[in-house]
This record gives sequence, C-alpha cells and structure tokens, in this order.
Amino acid sequence: MVDISLLGTAGAVPLPDRALTACVITVNGRSILIDCGEGTQTAARRADVNLMRTDVIALTHYHGDHIFGIPGLLQSFDLGERTAPLYIVGPVRPGLSIEQELGPVLALTGRLSYELRLIAMPEDGLKLHKLAREWPEPARLEAFRTEHRVNSLGYTFSLGRAGKFNAAAASKLGVPKILWRVLQGGASVNIDGNEVLPSDVMGPPRRGLKVVFSGDTMYCDSLVNAARGADLLICEATYGSSDQASIAADYGHMTFAQAGLTAAQAGAKRLWLTHFSQRITDPAEFLPNAAEVFPAAECGFDGKRANLEFEG
Ligand SMILES: [Zn+2]
Ligand SMILES: [Zn+2]
Repeated sequence: MVDISLLGTAGAVPLPDRALTACVITVNGRSILIDCGEGTQTAARRADVNLMRTDVIALTHYHGDHIFGIPGLLQSFDLGERTAPLYIVGPVRPGLSIEQELGPVLALTGRLSYELRLIAMPEDGLKLHKLAREWPEPARLEAFRTEHRVNSLGYTFSLGRAGKFNAAAASKLGVPKILWRVLQGGASVNIDGNEVLPSDVMGPPRRGLKVVFSGDTMYCDSLVNAARGADLLICEATYGSSDQASIAADYGHMTFAQAGLTAAQAGAKRLWLTHFSQRITDPAEFLPNAAEVFPAAECGFDGKRANLEFEG
C-alpha cells in the first residue's frame, strides 16, 4: 500500500555502495521523492525504483548532499517526455522565495517539457490527491521544523483511514449501492428528500499510516513530536558513537543513540537509521547504541524497502 525505498543513505560524501540522501514514498504508482542528492538517478536504477511518476520533490534543506541530483533528474524527466507538472517544495527563509533558494541548482537545468511548480512548503501541508488523482484522498505530506545549521524541515507522510462502512445501516436508510461510494468518500446523499450523512453509515476513523523523515537535524523536540506513533521513523544518525554527541550537536546532527532515543520517546513502531558519516564503514557496528534504547532499530542501506499496510 505505502511503499518506501531508501535510495541513498550517505551523509555529506558518497561511498561506492552508499549514495547521498534520497527516499521515495510510493502509493498507487505515484511517488514523492524526499531529497535528491547527487547520484539519486543511478541509486534509483540500482534499487529498481522508477522515478518517472514522481509528483513532488520535497527538500529538507539546501545543503549540496541533498540537492545536487536535481538538475540531472529534471533533465531525465524531460528526455522521458514528461508532461505532468512537477512540484518542488522546501523551506524558505524570511524575505526569500523558493526560486531564490534553489536558484543555483535551477540555473543548471535547461528548458523542460513540463511545468515546474516551486512552492514554499505550505503550513497545512499538501493534499496529494489534488496533485494527481491516483493518490488516495486522505494522503498528506506535512512538514515540521528541525534544528540543523541552516533553515531545515522534516516531513511526515500520512495516509488516513476512514471508519468501517455499515452496509446494513445504509440499506436500512434506503441508500442504493451505487451511492455507497459517495458516502465512503465523505459526502452526503439525498434519499427521497432526507439527507444521509457519512456519519450515519461510517464508523469512527481507523488508525492510518504515518512515515516520518527527519532530514538533517540535531536531537530536537519537534522531531519527537512529529514522530509520535509513527509506523516508520527514518532518522538521520550521522555519528555512530555516543561519545560524539557534542560534535554531532555542533554540526546539527545526531548520534545512533539519539536517533534511538527519539524513536523510543515518540513511541514509533520502526526506526531506520540513515545519513551515515563516511567514517562509518559498517553501520551495523554501531547499531547496538540505538538498539539499547529502541530495540527495533534497523540500519538503513541503499535499496532498503518496506511496504506498509493498514492494520486489521
Ligand atoms: Zn546532509
Ligand atoms: Zn545538512
């Protein structure tokens, strides 16, 4: 249902088997790409992920290791004769526009066959169904502030789930089957002059799905709050050793242990660590530092994938 792929798990500098940051979330064949580091296109090929049906590139911040893949990807969309508009969202500093924030990157991009729509990430998030109708109506992308050395965001993707449809109640109210979908979609219907509301035939909303992507950040409350009850938290863990907490804070990053603590405090179900320093050869060596606080912690790697389904 919600397919998540890590394309790149390196921080700052790529390694032969570790590309720079990029993560894809796909539902019904449409995708959001979060960050687009150098090498994202080849990383996607290696992971067997097709980026052509990406509707949004959501940027956490404008450090090179998160954005240098953009011009090449935009050109490939053009060569693929894309016509659908592409949205790019990201943080914007007061007094600037996103065009100014992204100016140097866009200057490298030639004429495109499709429209680029650059928008500062809206406060109330993006209703993805409005961008491409294949997205389920309740799918949302929202952002939250993080604490890095520059203006930065993390992202929450959520897929709400309506309550159970009560067919017996609908039949009793005389609603013909052909109108059930209207009620399931959240609109009311008129039956012989009587209005039937969705709440007349739908149970309370059920637990949906939530995926949170930290971007680059030091340990902060806003990330813990955003990750509350997340099905999956993808969290930066630039430094392996807990002794590096002070240097991590100086550079606006986290240690493995801090990522574990964030997931534990947030009550997240799963935790994937990512954005590893090039000094970390094997992230598994440091995994116990995160697992000590959050036993379900897992190391991310390029091509790591999960498919999340509604419970029950
Ligand atoms: Zn970074
Ligand atoms: Zn950064």
